[in-house]
Amino acid sequence: MTVVAEIETAPGARHADAARHSRAAQRRAEQAGALDRPTVSFELFPPRNPDAAPRLWATVRELETVEPDFVSVTYGAAGKTRQTTRGMVRRLLRETALTPIAHLTCVGTSRDEVTAIVEEFLDEGVRSFLALRGDPPAGEPDWRPHPDGVHTAAELVELLRDIESRRCGRSAAQAVRARVRPLSVAVAAFPRGNHATGGTRAQDVQALLAKQHAGADFAITQVFYEAEAYLGLVAEARAAGVTIPIVPGIIPTTDPARLLRVQELTGVPVPRRLFDLLGSTDDPLERHRRGTRAGVDLVNAVLDGGAPGVHVYTYNKHEAALDLLDGADLVGGRRSSVTTPAAVTTPAVTTPDLTAPDGNPADAATTTPRGTQP
Ligand code: FAD
Repeated sequence: MTVVAEIETAPGARHADAARHSRAAQRRAEQAGALDRPTVSFELFPPRNPDAAPRLWATVRELETVEPDFVSVTYGAAGKTRQTTRGMVRRLLRETALTPIAHLTCVGTSRDEVTAIVEEFLDEGVRSFLALRGDPPAGEPDWRPHPDGVHTAAELVELLRDIESRRCGRSAAQAVRARVRPLSVAVAAFPRGNHATGGTRAQDVQALLAKQHAGADFAITQVFYEAEAYLGLVAEARAAGVTIPIVPGIIPTTDPARLLRVQELTGVPVPRRLFDLLGSTDDPLERHRRGTRAGVDLVNAVLDGGAPGVHVYTYNKHEAALDLLDGADLVGGRRSSVTTPAAVTTPAVTTPDLTAPDGNPADAATTTPRGTQP
């Protein structure tokens, strides 16, 4: 018998060995579990004014407790928030453990301007972008696209890849860094077609395919309220040859006023049943519970249908977002705080009349859509 075998068969050693094996097995199981765990991420927008900043950063700290995979920071239409988006992304990089994704729009902007903006972000260490076309300014009928502009999200993805490869070509050090922290480019997808552009789902699937060919890594969807809309998009996209992951964008359905506003901005109709559900109680806490439950059902349905994770539209508020994730068991008990009833301030609502002429509330007409920007 070898010394090793002797040690292995000694009763104390056997116990130590078994304990070590079981710890390793547990660690492997945890790692496998962590790999399989759906991604969790949040959308935030830059503070509209300095007074809004402290509240936003308190929200960021709360969201940080659930260790999201990334947080994305919106970019105002036509680059209106260029400086605030940049400032916020910079602070997220420097002061938090979060991975920021900078939204970037290009419509109406020259290639040189877009290049300069991208270079600024890259210089600051940003490695992830959400490449969007953006929408032309609302209510400006004479508006013309920039003659030397970037006209589609796919062109922007291509430009991002070009800029990165030029930087790597200029500097071997940069090329090494880029291997260690590759550039990641996400794009938008639209479960019900893009109402803002009048695009049908079939057109948007073709646009998504073009974004993939241009070098997009994954997609995040526009809001939707029925799992079938997301699952239908994924099925149609896969049939068309789209292979990149498509992450569902989920809005917490606890605040009817917010839902109405989002409907106005995106053109995505909120189902009548949701307004009925929320509007039939005057108790804000009960409304919050009902809305959270509806959101959890949606999250569970898309995850059961194969979604890789969820991207939560927070509107810079953490309570509803974290309750939604908690309800869907997506935070692994890592949440530090639980929403207190006092945090729920939604006013009582009357159910809006959303009935469409054809009697299908889900397809009710909406006001002019612009984007997901609040
Ligand atoms: P594109 O892919 O360029 O598509 C624009 C239109 O052209 C579509 O109708 C599309 O169908 C059509 N098209 C393009 N290429 C093709 C093709 N090859 N074949 C057929 N049709 C084609 N807006 C902001 O201003 N700031 C933000 O921060 C912001 N964040 C967003 C985040 C998410 C997750 C989403 C879903 C949207 C966001 N938006 C934002 C809104 C977005 O900018 C608008 O919805 C915009 O109208 C569409 O952008 P796109 O990137 O899909 O454009």
